[in-house]
Amino acid sequence: MQVADCVFCKIALREIPSEIVYEDDEVIAFKDNQPLAPVHLLIIPKNHLRSLNDVTPEYETLIGHLFGVIQRLVEELGVAESGYRVVTNTGADGGQVVGHLHFHLLGGQALNAKIG
Ligand code: AMP
Ligand code: ZN
Repeated sequence: MQVADCVFCKIALREIPSEIVYEDDEVIAFKDNQPLAPVHLLIIPKNHLRSLNDVTPEYETLIGHLFGVIQRLVEELGVAESGYRVVTNTGADGGQVVGHLHFHLLGGQALNAKIG
């Protein structure tokens, strides 16, 4: 399901441009347009889930698949061994800006270790 005013749904539907690096029936990965590291991708389910809070048991297979896609991408990008970070910001205190579940994949440099 897609939501009309959602920027990531529009990316999935190719209604707005993005640099898509992976796509299948369930998941799409594209470059963050304000990258914070040499590797900064966003991996999303095509289905409009608002945040991790919407991931009920019926989505376990989807989320498992999404993490399989991340594993494949980190191999392709050459950061599997050097290291990387996967982050999902949730809600106001989590710093979530875009209300469509997304996982940041950051790598390609030593990342700031600070959390919070
Ligand atoms: P957040 O909701 O805080 O986890 O982060 C949303 C992320 O989406 C930010 O890193 C933005 O740079 C990124 N972003 C927002 N709009 C676009 C877009 N049209 N294409 C690619 N990345 C985007
Ligand atoms: Zn959406």
